[in-house]
Amino acid sequence: MKVAVIGAGRVGATTAYTLAIKGMVSDVVLLDVDAKRAVAEAQDISDALPFNISCRVSAGVYQDITDAKVVIITAGLGQQPGENRLQLLAKNAQIMREIVPQIAKNAKDSIIIVTSNPVDVLTKLTLRITADFGFSANRVFGTGTTLDTSRFRSLLGQYLDINPHHVHGYVLGEHGDSEVLSWSQVRIGGYPLDDYCRNMKIEMNDKIRADVEARVKGAVYRIIEGKGATYYGISGVLFNLVDAIVNDRGSMYTLSVSNAISPSVDKDICIAVPCLLDKDGISKAMPLELSEDENKRFYASVDIIERATLSLK
Ligand code: NAD
Repeated sequence: MKVAVIGAGRVGATTAYTLAIKGMVSDVVLLDVDAKRAVAEAQDISDALPFNISCRVSAGVYQDITDAKVVIITAGLGQQPGENRLQLLAKNAQIMREIVPQIAKNAKDSIIIVTSNPVDVLTKLTLRITADFGFSANRVFGTGTTLDTSRFRSLLGQYLDINPHHVHGYVLGEHGDSEVLSWSQVRIGGYPLDDYCRNMKIEMNDKIRADVEARVKGAVYRIIEGKGATYYGISGVLFNLVDAIVNDRGSMYTLSVSNAISPSVDKDICIAVPCLLDKDGISKAMPLELSEDENKRFYASVDIIERATLSLK
């Protein structure tokens, strides 16, 4: 099973390393406009594997990805300190226009995962380009708010002092400042959050919720301030997405998908909603069941993404 990673920068190389070291796939091909960098990263990752893992990690060109099951796009600029994701749009859209036709031409049967930011708008652009090559909307999606959902679960798990595995809650909408934490949907091992907190005598109020929310939304800024980029978290996310595809898991993640398959979105955009992911890509984008306030904020996020998407033309 081959996975291609386009962009051998911090996110691309860490993702290739994670896939290889976990023995998830048999082949990882790295492509970068800086071919020397891709070769060096492939060599360095390969050096970590020989004793017990049989995964071939190589640098390649687009002709090498014809048999890739999954293509992960990580090429493009990342945020600078203080910069938001939407500010990357013009430059990264140009990069997508260069690479996506090459992917679509060569890896005709692949599932494409967009990671580069602003991920919702770039997923829409990728969908438009790949549609001309026969890709359907369930085979092209963005990582959306999966990383934010992961941060939400672990922060709430820490506060409640429970394994985040038992925390079910979703971050929806833009992967960015307007994202929405769907508190009304949170379940702790099957219990609604307020019931769980009452049973456990744990305080839960608007101030605590606002604090968790600020930490989820602020995580990217704090990490970039401290080390210039985020890449371990997103690599963990990409590992899980590849796992869901390769092992046909039917896992639920908050992925950025086309309105064509998302029942709650009627604007011509991609935005994150809970989706089921299996060997064929997105099998179902779920309808949203939010509180009135969450609904309002979700559609405000839709409007922001729509405006950014319209600016592409
Ligand atoms: P980076 O600068 O370390 O790497 C980007 C790589 O893309 C570079 O190696 C560059 O040479 C390559 N590249 C540029 N143009 C290319 C082209 N035309 N073809 C092939 N390769 C090309 O950046 P990074 O830290 O790895 O971040 C990459 C992207 O991932 C950014 O847009 C960042 O915002 C995004 N990101 C997304 C999430 C998420 O949750 N979706 C999380 C973290 C980072």
